[in-house]
Amino acid sequence: MANIESFDLDHTRVHAPYIRLAGVKTTPRGDSISKYDLRLLQPNQGVIEPAALHTLEHLLAGYLRDHLQDVVDVSPMGCRTGLYMAVIGEPNEEGVLQAFTAALQDTANHDRPIPGVSELECGNYRDHDLTTARQLARTALDQGLKVQETVLIQR
Ligand SMILES: [Zn+2]
Repeated sequence: MANIESFDLDHTRVHAPYIRLAGVKTTPRGDSISKYDLRLLQPNQGVIEPAALHTLEHLLAGYLRDHLQDVVDVSPMGCRTGLYMAVIGEPNEEGVLQAFTAALQDTANHDRPIPGVSELECGNYRDHDLTTARQLARTALDQGLKVQETVLIQR
């Protein structure tokens, strides 16, 4: 099986909330694509309920793109402690940190309908929780986000 970068991350030695550059790929044409972890909860200590994570996905999809150019994708982590982001190029980590912080501020303040929530636009439109999504964003902001270095598992 192919080697997966995140399986080499020591999840016991990171301190959420954080952003972490997980890797950079170069395409055959020479463009680079960076992948980031946007971790909200400390691994193995908390978990985001699926409805709230779904709402975070909908809100951050738009708000991150408002603050950072060339975002390719924002999607939930299967472990439900945060989200992944893929972005074209190699934005510096401080810039990504600022963009994520601003997007979380927008999320915490979001008091309108959740975008993309209808049977036409979403695959599970009944499964959302804006109140908890806003609280999670606020809590992460209150805790203070930082850039997390990659800490490899010592094998
Ligand atoms: Zn959806």
